[in-house]
Amino acid sequence: MKAALKTADGRFEIAEVDAPDLPAADWVKARVRMAGICGTDLRHWEKAEEELHCCIMGHELAGEVVEIGADVTRVAVGDRVLIESVLGCGSCEWCRVQQYNRCPDLYPTRRASVWRAYAELVVGPQHKFHKLPDQIGYDDATLLDTYAVGLHAQHLSGLTINARVAIIGAGPIGLGQLMLAKASGAEVLIIDTVPHALELAERLGADRVVQSDHEDPVAAIRAMTNGRGADIVFECAGGESMPDTLPLATRLVRRGGKVVIVGGFDAGETSIALEWQRIQMSEITLIPSASFAFHDLYSEQATVLDLLTRGKLRTQELITHRFPLERINEAFETAQDGRRTGAIFVGLTIG
Ligand SMILES: [Zn+2]
Ligand SMILES: [Zn+2]
Repeated sequence: MKAALKTADGRFEIAEVDAPDLPAADWVKARVRMAGICGTDLRHWEKAEEELHCCIMGHELAGEVVEIGADVTRVAVGDRVLIESVLGCGSCEWCRVQQYNRCPDLYPTRRASVWRAYAELVVGPQHKFHKLPDQIGYDDATLLDTYAVGLHAQHLSGLTINARVAIIGAGPIGLGQLMLAKASGAEVLIIDTVPHALELAERLGADRVVQSDHEDPVAAIRAMTNGRGADIVFECAGGESMPDTLPLATRLVRRGGKVVIVGGFDAGETSIALEWQRIQMSEITLIPSASFAFHDLYSEQATVLDLLTRGKLRTQELITHRFPLERINEAFETAQDGRRTGAIFVGLTIG
C-alpha cells in the first residue's frame, strides 16, 4: 500500500509499504478515505526526530471497512466509519475503567495501529470503529477527533449553563470548544490574532471575538463579566504560544475559576513563568486535559458523532483545504502558514 513516511528532517516521502494484517479475530481493516492535519501533527513538522523516522503518522481519520476478523460484529465490510485513534493497552488499571487516555502505554499502542492515518489501509480493534450515518461525510468525520478533545476538556471543566467562557485560540480545537460551549448554554469570548479565524468564530456563534494584537483580551472579558473574569478559560492554542497564552489564561479567569489546558506542549521540561502567588490566593484551578476517552457511561468519540448527526456541531465551514496524500508536504505547509493561506482545517484525501 501507499503511505507517507516521516523523513529524517521531519517532512514526508510517499513510499510503497506492506499492508497491515489483522492481528486478532476482533480487529477490522479499513481503507482510509480522509485524514486530518492537527496541531499535534504540526508540532512534529520539519523537526528532526530520530524515533519518528520512517513512521506513518496521522490520527484523525475516516474510511471504509474492507476486511473484518471472525469475531467482529460491530461493523461489516463496506461500512463507512469514523476510526477512533485513542487506543490504550487494554489491560492496565486505567484502561480497565475506560480512562484509556491516561494509559501509560497509550502512545506506543496507538502508534502501532490506529495512529497511522497517512496511509491507504489501517487496522484496529472493532470498538474503535464507529459507523457513520448516511448524511455524515468522511470529511465531516475527520474533525471528530478534534471535537472529542474539546468535549473531554469541557467535561473536566464542569461547564454548566450560562457559564462565562473565554477560549484562547481559534483553530479547529478552539472552534470546536466554542461550538460545544455554545451548545451547552455558555456565553463565549474567543481570542486569536488571525482575522479570518475570528470571522469564522463569529459565524459559528461566538458572542465576542478579540484580536489580541489589537485589543486587550483581559479588558474585554472584564467588560463581559462585571469585572470578574471568566468562570472557565480554555487554552486551545498550545505549542510555541504557550509561554504567552497560559499566563494570559490565568489573567482572564475569575477568582475561584478554572483554566483548562487543552493545547499541547512539546516533550521535556518547559519553563513558563506564572504569578503563582496570585493564582494561589485567588484559588484558580489549573486542569490539564489530554485526548479523550469516556465520560460516565458514554464514549466521548461517539458523543461528538451523535452531536454532529443531530446538527449541534458544524464541520464544513472549518474545512478550508483538501490535498491528495501525494501532496502531503504541501498540505502541511498550507496548514502551518494559516495566517497567509487562510487554512483552518486541512484534510488529506486518500484512496
Ligand atoms: Zn489531533
Ligand atoms: Zn492501558
